[in-house]
Amino acid sequence: MTIFTTRVDVAVRGVRVDAPVRRRAGAGPSDDGHVILAGQAAALPIDLSSPFTVAGGRLYLDGADLGLEVEAVDRPAFYDLKTADGIPYHHLARLHGRDVLATTVIQTCVRYDPEDRCRFCAVEESLTAGATTRVKTPAQLAEVAEAAVRLDGVTQMLMTTGTTATADRGARYLARCVRAVLAAVPGLPIQVQCEPPADPRALADLRDAGVTAIGIHVESLDDAVRRRWMPGKATVTLAEYDAAWTEAVRLFGPNRVSTYLLVGLGEDPDELVAGARRLIEMGVYPFVVPVRPLHGTLAEADGLRPPPAELVGRVTLEVAAELQAAGMFGRDQGAGCAACGACSALAAAGA
Ligand code: SF4
Repeated sequence: MTIFTTRVDVAVRGVRVDAPVRRRAGAGPSDDGHVILAGQAAALPIDLSSPFTVAGGRLYLDGADLGLEVEAVDRPAFYDLKTADGIPYHHLARLHGRDVLATTVIQTCVRYDPEDRCRFCAVEESLTAGATTRVKTPAQLAEVAEAAVRLDGVTQMLMTTGTTATADRGARYLARCVRAVLAAVPGLPIQVQCEPPADPRALADLRDAGVTAIGIHVESLDDAVRRRWMPGKATVTLAEYDAAWTEAVRLFGPNRVSTYLLVGLGEDPDELVAGARRLIEMGVYPFVVPVRPLHGTLAEADGLRPPPAELVGRVTLEVAAELQAAGMFGRDQGAGCAACGACSALAAAGA
């Protein structure tokens, strides 16, 4: 087993590990424990039935030592702090990987009606569980970011948002949050994530606020898959995504724009790779991630299973080869998921 095949296998089958830094529910498709696997950040599903275990800092498969070091990410010091009005900092932002501070600035989504919501997303579940707040203020985020950088060596920040009912789809609030954080921590690389704003000037507002990189996440380039898995978001056409990616590359530069492509929603793998190639030609980094049935999602209720490791491995390797040929590497995004890499095996494939 190579490091790459192990990385893919463990991403799909999960691991039994005591990881102090983990996320349950929240925005997007992953719900994982954070570890450093063979030197790279990895967000791995915690699964008590997995054949993978961690003991003595090493990874085992069915009791056999795979010769790979695994280190759980320590609970950061900023998690023990509270705002003056008593809100724990970890309700406002979380550590991802070893050094990424991540937050969902607006924890509600206009598409969260069960008929509309993305079936793999649990953005409002952590709110219902009392693990976070509905809206993080710019001042709160500035306070947490300053502490996380000072106490825990955070090197980049990621801000995502549930989609708002406004024409900017949440982008302008992200810009306000970015301005506040950069006033407190000048120079901190920040990635924002949002839907294509219906108001195109919102992208320029994000650039002017000092955003380093942007994720405009389509999840699938197959309209039938989009309608099945994300009926609300699928009302935003692929042409609108194309226009937003093009404008974002113009504003932020090539390889500063990314999108998630989920493996395991039923898309034809060759079409997925062909779509990724087209994105790369546009300067957009396709962050390939296996879909996981996140706790509390409609996908979990549907009985969705993770995709086969062979499929994830094949698609990841083919997209990584395209990225390498284009000279696009996740770390060069500067901030965000592609720069972190923990939710994908692309970094293990050299991209
Ligand atoms: S890849 Fe993105 S979602 Fe995954 S751990 Fe890193 S920053 Fe978080």
